[in-house]
Amino acid sequence: METKTIKAFGTEAVNVPLHEMDIKRRELLPHDVELKILFCGICHSDLHQIKNDFGGTMWPIVPGHEIVGQVTRIGGHVKNFKVGELAAIGCIVDSCGKCEYCEDDKEQFCDEGVTFSFNSPDKHLGGATLGGFSEKYVCNERYVLHVPENLDLASTAPLVCAGITVYSPLIHWQAGPDKIVGILGIGGLGHLAIKMAKAMGAFVVVYTTSPSKVEDAKRLGADEAVLSTDAEQMKKYARKIHFIIDTVSAKHDVNPYLNLLRHDGSVVMVGLPPEPLEIKAFNVVHGRRSFSGSNIGGIAETQEMLVFCAEHNITADIELINIQQINEAFKRLEKGDVHYRFVIDMASLV
Ligand code: NAP
Ligand code: ZN
Repeated sequence: METKTIKAFGTEAVNVPLHEMDIKRRELLPHDVELKILFCGICHSDLHQIKNDFGGTMWPIVPGHEIVGQVTRIGGHVKNFKVGELAAIGCIVDSCGKCEYCEDDKEQFCDEGVTFSFNSPDKHLGGATLGGFSEKYVCNERYVLHVPENLDLASTAPLVCAGITVYSPLIHWQAGPDKIVGILGIGGLGHLAIKMAKAMGAFVVVYTTSPSKVEDAKRLGADEAVLSTDAEQMKKYARKIHFIIDTVSAKHDVNPYLNLLRHDGSVVMVGLPPEPLEIKAFNVVHGRRSFSGSNIGGIAETQEMLVFCAEHNITADIELINIQQINEAFKRLEKGDVHYRFVIDMASLV
């Protein structure tokens, strides 16, 4: 298969800082779109993978799956995109397209396994897919998103992973004016969950381990912010919350949060702590509560989320960096020291 060489930032091993490297992109297939990448967000999943937290990292790795850019070329059969328009690519770049989940627009649950934009087996070139910390991305138009024109482009990038990951469970568990929604952790996912739940009309209670984020949570739209290390504050919403979106990236005790739920409520895990979590049986038996999870969202739902954000003027609060600052940015992300998403200005990759 014909390929094109482009510049990227990646690494060959844990503990080797990310650095510039040459990688290959496939030449366009008939249904492919090529994006010149303008901005790419940095998600905690990128950090998990470069640390090999889940044990499955394929080397070399080029992270990045919150991609926005401009269409530079299209294959002969592309119908939905034109050269010059703005577009986005999130976590999913391929799936079987014919199983019951793909047919139902839930590609994230594809029977044959979805291809992620980085660190997934590449069906075309072999090896691993290489992500958005790079000049260009090529993928089938089915997985490419239209970007609303009224939103700031750099702050829109985080919507296509962080945004959809919290939007999907907020819709599934029916956030709305009659609901008290808890959000656990104010990072990339958490701060967008606050904005979206509020725009859906819910009463939003946020739980943070960071005293400095308590005040800021209200600016982001939370009705109440609770310092989760304060046992007294933790009692206030006991048995009152309809569901909680848990965005925490590291091992933590979920039992106190199960006890905040009303009957039939759920703690919905979207964070990916690498270690198993313990649940006390009584905390789910009592009140018929559940512990559940949610995985990004399908392509149609991601497009719907972008329209919702355009209507409500929701984007991420970002710190814009150059690609040369990437290793420093990962160190700060590890410490929870980001307000609230790093986005790379890819013009710095020259
Ligand atoms: P992030 O920006 O680092 O935010 C995570 C937040 O969790 C931190 O800001 C911190 O908030 C809190 N936290 C971190 N360590 C903690 C600890 N030990 N105990 C309690 N709270 C802690 O990360 P992100 O990019 O939002 O991603 C969050 C998680 O979601 C990651 O594990 C990521 O891999 C996962 N993820 C999953 C999906 C999916 O489809 N399910 C998609 C994208 C990302 P406070 O300072 O407020 O306490
Ligand atoms: Zn992500």
